[in-house]
Amino acid sequence: MKLSARAASLQPSLTLAIAARAKQLQAEGQNICSLSAGEPNFDTPAFIRQAAAEALEQGVTRYGPAAGDPELRQAIAEKLSRCNGMAVGSDQVLVTNGGKQALYNLFQVLLDPGDEVLLPAPYWLTYPELARLAGAEVCLLTSNASDGFRLDLEALEALITPKSRLLVLNTPSNPTGLVLQREELEAVAALLRRHPQVAVVCDEIYEHLLADGQTHHSLAALAPDLADRLFVVNGFAKGWAMTGWRLGYLAGPAEVVKAAIALQSQSTSNVCSFAQRGALAALHAPLDCVQEMARSFSQRRSHLTAGLQQLSDVVVVPPNGAFYAFPDISAFGLDSMTFCQQLLDQQGLAVVPGVAFGDDRCIRLSCAVTTATIDDGLNRLKSFLQTL
Ligand code: PLP
Repeated sequence: MKLSARAASLQPSLTLAIAARAKQLQAEGQNICSLSAGEPNFDTPAFIRQAAAEALEQGVTRYGPAAGDPELRQAIAEKLSRCNGMAVGSDQVLVTNGGKQALYNLFQVLLDPGDEVLLPAPYWLTYPELARLAGAEVCLLTSNASDGFRLDLEALEALITPKSRLLVLNTPSNPTGLVLQREELEAVAALLRRHPQVAVVCDEIYEHLLADGQTHHSLAALAPDLADRLFVVNGFAKGWAMTGWRLGYLAGPAEVVKAAIALQSQSTSNVCSFAQRGALAALHAPLDCVQEMARSFSQRRSHLTAGLQQLSDVVVVPPNGAFYAFPDISAFGLDSMTFCQQLLDQQGLAVVPGVAFGDDRCIRLSCAVTTATIDDGLNRLKSFLQTL
């Protein structure tokens, strides 16, 4: 059967391929250590589970509005105004099946074939695939571990053409843990003012997961004048340990959000109705549970970073947020896929090759595991490096 050109060009997720290989080896009885997880190793806080369970009991089991429960849209709009300096009404919010669907919907309604998407690399691996699915070209802005993966704004400006349509910003970043500082975001805003054809989407899904002393800044708060072309994507998966619930949102200019709602109404309809009640409970509660998990990630992030820093010839940029480290292992002369395959086959350690994130010199290790698992992983990595 001939596949559509769209489907034929779609790359399956490399992260899932590594996870599947690790599972297969485990099933064969091998002792596998995985630092490949992209999700918190915590349970969703009890009060959120309870709110959803009660909703289920009360019969909140029917179709709802495609755009999301009005109360939840309102709570999200208030949260964006209060915490992110983004003054939006609930009509500018769409509740989606995770941050991923928010991005999918946005790219579909904003991009046409031939449009260009400006994407800083290393990037979260879904962005380029979603851009290409919408027919757009991806223009990569490269960066290096040796420069701390900082955004080179001159290089970004040089990439801009009349076809540039959308800049993707992700802070804190998956996979590098880079947190954009206030001055950097102000410089991005100044650049965008010079190029009115370029919209921007800020993926803030890791906003709560910060290293000590770091602050999350939202571009929306720093540049309210860009409101007519600024989008925010966020969700509950990382901050509230709700990955399986599939709850995210898109916010931005009303006419684009309206188009995204129409798309969602014809594709997936509303997000699971009783799950939305869990998200509402999460937003109505204080952030204590989120902060507690964030503190735990912070300790483990530091622990992983310190361990990596002890390995010679590994270049480590201390991550300031999210729950990954993205060291440069290119000194060992292997591409990242070969490195990861050999590491898994020889030491039973699963990590994700950097090529999946647009940087073949690096590998991604997650600290969303116990400290003992981090130590086990570091030992296996050390043993592997000694063989190279
Ligand atoms: N954005 C980034 C940077 C991510 O790392 C992820 C998940 O890994 C998402 C968005 C999407 O999360 P979800 O669709 O689970 O809400």
